Amino acid sequence: MTATRPPDAPLKIVIVGSVAAGTSAAAKARRNTETARITVYERDHDISYSGCGLPYFVGGEVADIDDLTPRDPAWFKARYDVDVRTGHEVVAVDTAARTVTVRDLATGRTFVDTYDELVLATGVRAVVPPIPGAGSTGVFSVRTPTDARAIRAWIEDSESRGRPVRHAVVVGAGYIGLEMTEQLTARGLAVTVVEAADHTMPRMDADMSARVDAEVRRHVRERGGDLLLSTKVTGITADDGGVTGVGVAREQAAEHLDAELVIVSVGVRPHVNLAEQAGVELGPTGAIAVDRRMRTNVEHVWAVGDVAESFHVITGEPVWVPLGSTANKMGRIAGDAMTGGPLEHRGILGTSIVRVFDLGVAQTGFTETQARAAGYDVEVLHNIKPDRPEYLGGTPLVIKAVADRATGRLLGAQAIGASGADKRIDVLATAITYGADVADLFHLDLAYSPTYATTKDPVHYTGMALTNAVHGQAPLVTPAELDRRRSDGERIQVVDVRSAKDRARSSVPDSVHIPLAELRQRAGELDPALPTLTYCNKGVTGNAGQNVLRNLGFTDVANLSGGNQGYQQHRQHTPRATPETPVPETSTPRKPSALFVCVHNAGRSQMAAGFLRALSGGAVEVRSAGSMPADQINPVAVEAMLEVGIDIRDETPKILTDDAVEASDAVITMGCGDACPFYPGKNYQDWELDDPAGQGIEAIRPIRDEIERRVRGLLAELGVQPVA
Ligand SMILES: Cc1cc2nc3c(=O)[nH]c(=O)nc-3n(C[C@H](O)[C@H](O)[C@H](O)COP(=O)(O)OP(=O)(O)OC[C@H]3O[C@@H](n4cnc5c(N)ncnc54)[C@H](O)[C@@H]3O)c2cc1C
Repeated sequence: MTATRPPDAPLKIVIVGSVAAGTSAAAKARRNTETARITVYERDHDISYSGCGLPYFVGGEVADIDDLTPRDPAWFKARYDVDVRTGHEVVAVDTAARTVTVRDLATGRTFVDTYDELVLATGVRAVVPPIPGAGSTGVFSVRTPTDARAIRAWIEDSESRGRPVRHAVVVGAGYIGLEMTEQLTARGLAVTVVEAADHTMPRMDADMSARVDAEVRRHVRERGGDLLLSTKVTGITADDGGVTGVGVAREQAAEHLDAELVIVSVGVRPHVNLAEQAGVELGPTGAIAVDRRMRTNVEHVWAVGDVAESFHVITGEPVWVPLGSTANKMGRIAGDAMTGGPLEHRGILGTSIVRVFDLGVAQTGFTETQARAAGYDVEVLHNIKPDRPEYLGGTPLVIKAVADRATGRLLGAQAIGASGADKRIDVLATAITYGADVADLFHLDLAYSPTYATTKDPVHYTGMALTNAVHGQAPLVTPAELDRRRSDGERIQVVDVRSAKDRARSSVPDSVHIPLAELRQRAGELDPALPTLTYCNKGVTGNAGQNVLRNLGFTDVANLSGGNQGYQQHRQHTPRATPETPVPETSTPRKPSALFVCVHNAGRSQMAAGFLRALSGGAVEVRSAGSMPADQINPVAVEAMLEVGIDIRDETPKILTDDAVEASDAVITMGCGDACPFYPGKNYQDWELDDPAGQGIEAIRPIRDEIERRVRGLLAELGVQPVA
């Protein structure tokens, strides 16, 4: 029998969960009506807190946890006349009788309460994978203020426990894992991030998160940590004093990482046990299915926040992206709807942003991968522009935008940069929400002052290039598409329209070099009947070259999205090819070979070559080269190597050639980013070492020692025993 409310009785609202969604629902319901009786049950002690701020309390950027937990039950009572009962868990729901069974966790007593409207705002639980040792002391998830207090205390009390926390392992490189990595690194810990996927930020496209990988690697290595991708945790070791280390497996080899602290952040799942018990339906994502008013399938039961499913603004399909921004909105909508208000949910784009050391990393709508999986024929642009003029400190902002070729609709964007990613992603999210065509972006009247933006904003440029591609005659080809088409056997004539100096740094393999200024005169060297691809460093000059060729009668001319920079980034992320031809057993074993590359080939690469020659005892073929080699070796690097008994005076600087790369099994760049090449099938690594140029011996010694450490690691990878 279903309970009914007498007409004059006050509406009785019961809410389960009191963080973002539950308290929003309570506050909105109260704003709409003074007569309702509103009770919130919360099994924890903290309420209405900023979960998003927890990493910054652990790191010390937020000094006091009270700043993240500004409200308590007394505040809610005084401000909203809402009863918040902390330490009270709802253990059962009877939807026919409209009752909840509640356990007072302090006394163990259970009691039954009635409701007219019930709101499930039970949030998520952290996933703890079944790793041996995951329950050890010193292993934490980051969900609640209790977790954050415990992590901070574990670090701060560690000296007095006699085992200072110096090394941390963060398992999972999603946004919470990376926020924790940043904050623990800021505390001076050597943090190693272990991620099973082959890139950080698994919700982003790999070519974009490659930039995040590099940023994380650079910062954690400065403190002795590392980023280990495609790596799985096999177990956590501990003794009476707590956790001691983490076992990992990568490339079929087992490794042990020292750790006195382990953070597990491999994801969350919706807290749906109460809902399931009450007969509330879940959607295809595993979260509670709700309509636009936040109603579940069961009358008078609502679900909001992380526990509830949402729907995608573009497709209307169910999606689950648990974020505080959405949780607050959903709570407000339910609070309004159950008290007679008009609010309805309009869906989400999964818009999010995270600070990762010096980068803002943001996304909205579909990534390229998601858009293709959803069946769209996509146009993809990588737009690299300063966020404001360089004369006022502008830094590169990379926007990857995805549009539907069939309709011109903007489907999604990702933005990464030291500044300005937040503003651009919000503008793009707004445009997508209102169904913008890519051509609409150019017409947006955006604010400009050189202190904040460029006259044509990066959003305008994104729109212009996508419009030319989708509606005009300037199609784009992504680096991945180029490689795919070439490996399918298609003949594409690739034209590098950059200067000789730029080309000397790195280039797209098998490209013809015709600088833009010579293109009109030398176009006869090209075959107008072949599919043609122009490229420059980032895309703008490539587009100019594309226009020249098109005007000269070339019918199939595309421009490389993101230019050479995008291409090199993509190549760094292309999985290494596995050798398919086994070496015949009778052949003489070939020496492994390694090539060290840096722009000037005048210090780091020579030191690395010197160490590898000496430590391998001649068992490895060693080369070093530079894209713009200097005239002589850095004499201070020579001096630093002589201190350890290695003479590198004969390592004269050499020009980098394709032959040298082709002849080497391992290609190691020293920290020159995309100034250096990447070739698939090579064991490619970027060691991201500091540059010794112009430095004194004191500064070069640690670089030298780091190089020796890396060379020893390389020897192990090449299977060569170092000589004494
Ligand atoms: C470290 C961290 C960083 C984050 N950063 C961001 C960010 O930058 N941006 C962003 O948008 N989002 C961020 N989030 C996500 C955001 O915090 C959540 O989306 C938001 O807290 C969800 O609110 P909620 O009310 O739906 O659920 P929750 O916050 O999970 O709250 C649910 C509450 O329900 C209680 N509960 C569950 N079952 C019962 C029961 N049976 N009886 C009584 N009580 C119960 C739980 O104890 C819990 O307190 C972050 C989260 C974390 C952990």
